[in-house]
Amino acid sequence: MTTAASQSEVRVLSTLNADGSRRWIKPWPSPGRFLRRRRVVAYALIGVFTVLPYLTINGKPPILLDIAAREFTFFGVTFYPTDTLALALLIVSVFVAVFLVTALFGRIWCGWACPQTVYMEFLYRPIERLFEGRPGRKPKAGAWRKPAKHVAFLLVSMALAHTFLAYFVGIDRLARWVTTPPTEHPVAFLVMAGVTGLMMFDFAFFREQTCLIACPYGRFQSAMLDRHSLIISYDRQRGEPRGKARRAATDVSLPVTSRRGDCVDCGLCVRTCPTGIDIRDGLQMECIGCAQCIDACDAVMTKLGRPKGLIRYSSQAAMEGARFTLLRPRVALYPLLLAVLIAALGVTIARRPATLLTVARATGGAAFYVEPDGSVVNRVRLTVRNQTSRPATYTARVAGLESARVTSADLPLTLEPGELAQATLAIQAPAGVFENGRREVRIEVAPHTGEPVSKPIRLLGPWSAPGSVGGEEGHP
Ligand code: SF4
Ligand code: SF4
Repeated sequence: MTTAASQSEVRVLSTLNADGSRRWIKPWPSPGRFLRRRRVVAYALIGVFTVLPYLTINGKPPILLDIAAREFTFFGVTFYPTDTLALALLIVSVFVAVFLVTALFGRIWCGWACPQTVYMEFLYRPIERLFEGRPGRKPKAGAWRKPAKHVAFLLVSMALAHTFLAYFVGIDRLARWVTTPPTEHPVAFLVMAGVTGLMMFDFAFFREQTCLIACPYGRFQSAMLDRHSLIISYDRQRGEPRGKARRAATDVSLPVTSRRGDCVDCGLCVRTCPTGIDIRDGLQMECIGCAQCIDACDAVMTKLGRPKGLIRYSSQAAMEGARFTLLRPRVALYPLLLAVLIAALGVTIARRPATLLTVARATGGAAFYVEPDGSVVNRVRLTVRNQTSRPATYTARVAGLESARVTSADLPLTLEPGELAQATLAIQAPAGVFENGRREVRIEVAPHTGEPVSKPIRLLGPWSAPGSVGGEEGHP
């Protein structure tokens, strides 16, 4: 019979059999202190993820990635397409924070907080066990169980897909979609069906392969970890040579070949592993740091009356007998870099104008026209965005040209926080203000409270004496 260890030697991927077929991993649950703690963390995270879209900060959800409006809201700060620098700083900050956490605590994110692990291990697998029974025990009888499990998976996936999409469209739009027939919003319905299908594919079929094949984080871990990073390790010195015989590794009266370490080769650490690996083979990319093997092995050690911790949170250096040291170059560098990035991000956001303004000549029609009284009219298009957290009402004027008069059916312009709108202005100025058929001015837009902003634009007028309707010959 092939042992778990020898199987792993011939296996390229823990989810593939030697003949290339899928090896379905059904980890045995291992009750223990880490499972208890992870369960609390996981259900708290599921609760936060579910509730967050219903909360508001400054009138917006804490996290909203509004692709249609090209806006990203993050805990009260909304990033617009013009906030390239702030967004770049935010993204780089997140990456540096991930580097720092990984350098200190290894793959703690994967095992304790990643949605893939949280939903797979604490929602989908418990549902599977509810219908089919616990792995390692006699399966529950009943042909209806498998289809019923998939119906339950589908319902959970639908709920999850709705919650997930709330982060992109907001809870109000989502509620409209849910409460109106799909014929009224076919695209939204298809998106929802597609996301539900993806959830089903991921959690019912693809499962741990997302961590092993699709997720890049595991592949980068070797670059992010160092010898002092917290990892889950098997104490080879204490455990080897493994074997089922009575513990006698230190019994010098026995021949060396019959001495045994603390590992009784029960295979429970392998059977409980959600990625199907054997931690006794050393640190592996597939290890998501879930600590299930610790709980499994601790239970075995307790039963045998041996000290816990044959598998434990440790570091490569500690396993080799070196002293743990927190002060390493990368652990000092990352927080420093993070502080600089966060400060730069804060300054960038604080210096962001409250009003975003762009000014351009209105398209269509003549470049300008001349009124019977000789005054010249230019049409200008304003684009205004309210970048504050309160509604604002805007008026416009021509700065530095007091004789110019602004009329517009669009003004005053009232905008909600983050709202963007356009207004067309007719700017009427005496013909005498134009020099060589042009006049440089600034259009000033002022909110009812706060600082006005202005942008330059060139007004066009008659090249010589005003006459009839102007056009191409009226300016150079
Ligand atoms: S659970 Fe512990 S004793 Fe059992 S095989 Fe794994 S390391 Fe050895
Ligand atoms: S080796 Fe242990 S910590 Fe790593 S994934 Fe498997 S059970 Fe989790």
